[in-house]
Amino acid sequence: MKVLVINAGSSSLKYQLLDMENEAVMANGIVERIGETVGKLTHKAFPDTDNEKKVVKEEEIKDHKIGMHMVLDLITGSEAGVISDPKEIDAIGHRVVQGGEAFTSACVVDGPVKVAIADNNPLAPLHNPANLMGIEVAEELFPGTPNVAVFDTEFHSTMPKEAFLYALPYDYYKELRIRRYGFHGTSHKYVSRKVAECMGKKADEINVITVHLGNGCSMAAVEKGKCQDTSMGMTPLAGVMMGTRSGDIDPAIVAYIAENKGMSATEVDSVLNKQSGLKGVCGLNDMRDIHSAVENGDEMAKLALDMFAYDVKKYIGAYTAVLGSIDAIVFTAGIGENDDITRALICENLSGLGIDMDFDKNNGRKGEPTAVHTDASKVQVWVIPTNEELQIAQEAVELLK
Ligand code: ADP
Repeated sequence: MKVLVINAGSSSLKYQLLDMENEAVMANGIVERIGETVGKLTHKAFPDTDNEKKVVKEEEIKDHKIGMHMVLDLITGSEAGVISDPKEIDAIGHRVVQGGEAFTSACVVDGPVKVAIADNNPLAPLHNPANLMGIEVAEELFPGTPNVAVFDTEFHSTMPKEAFLYALPYDYYKELRIRRYGFHGTSHKYVSRKVAECMGKKADEINVITVHLGNGCSMAAVEKGKCQDTSMGMTPLAGVMMGTRSGDIDPAIVAYIAENKGMSATEVDSVLNKQSGLKGVCGLNDMRDIHSAVENGDEMAKLALDMFAYDVKKYIGAYTAVLGSIDAIVFTAGIGENDDITRALICENLSGLGIDMDFDKNNGRKGEPTAVHTDASKVQVWVIPTNEELQIAQEAVELLK
């Protein structure tokens, strides 16, 4: 089966074509700056394992449909094509950010599913409408090919009420659907299953804390394969500190900033999402830049790094308590996979929890699943590259079998 995975954002569209016979990536790319005067399409094709062809196009890309058309032409064309007919694509898997309570698993898209996705738009106004648009463009360009929606929230739908409810008037949950939903679920699911495989266990035999540290950061407490708690909340602003997002703060701070800075609630929300986190503390949001700054003696960068590691460490403690005992911790995503310094800072002095990192094994970037704990460590520590596209494609295959 060949599966095209699409992640449509408001002005971008990422795609990956996978051959699920051997889980090989046939082509991938990104269409950016859709709707701007000059858009950009970067396409890579992998006709065989030792061969990569890259095409970059810079021109106006008016909308997602035109962008998708360009992708389709490249995938099937002579320059960097990997299939000869769009009909060779058996399914299209879509990343949808907010499934709300309506979706606890992936599903084949039909009319009612689209209505239910749109019903969640108010809960994810920046993402769901774009995800839905991606689905509609795919329906138009690939008539007859099944579309599968895979939700960022679905892995977290197993959280018990005490974990997902906020201590607010209960009516707000019923009326406004305010609750913890969690995000990055596809990644948490993928790495929590992969670590079980690496440990020679079944996912339902182990308790794992998954630590997804990218531009957005989230953690999950996974008990025997099922999510019990996760750090992001009703929106992806909550939890651990991130590149530009504050993570958890005292909620009273919102009104305090609004009053003292003369800002609206929406403006404060924007500060918390875009001007906070690592960037808010030291002016830099890319972890590589922060390490360079620390090396050059920048004390604010060091403080931001220490705050970041402290936050993650604190959640490891909390989730160890939630799970009673843990078998493994998994680091993933840009920082989790590549940043040995941050991983080491997080895992320092955790022997009391049975977590002993082997700092030599931890050294360096990890392009494949790697164990980084000492032989004596009660809890295994792993670095596992995430693969959300593969997880989405696997769910599509599973569903259409
Ligand atoms: P996104 O959430 O956008 O998918 P990524 O998972 O790609 O983000 O992660 C981006 C983060 O990973 C950035 O903070 C970046 O600095 C960090 N990162 C990538 N490579 C490295 C590296 N070699 N060392 C430290 N941090 C890295």
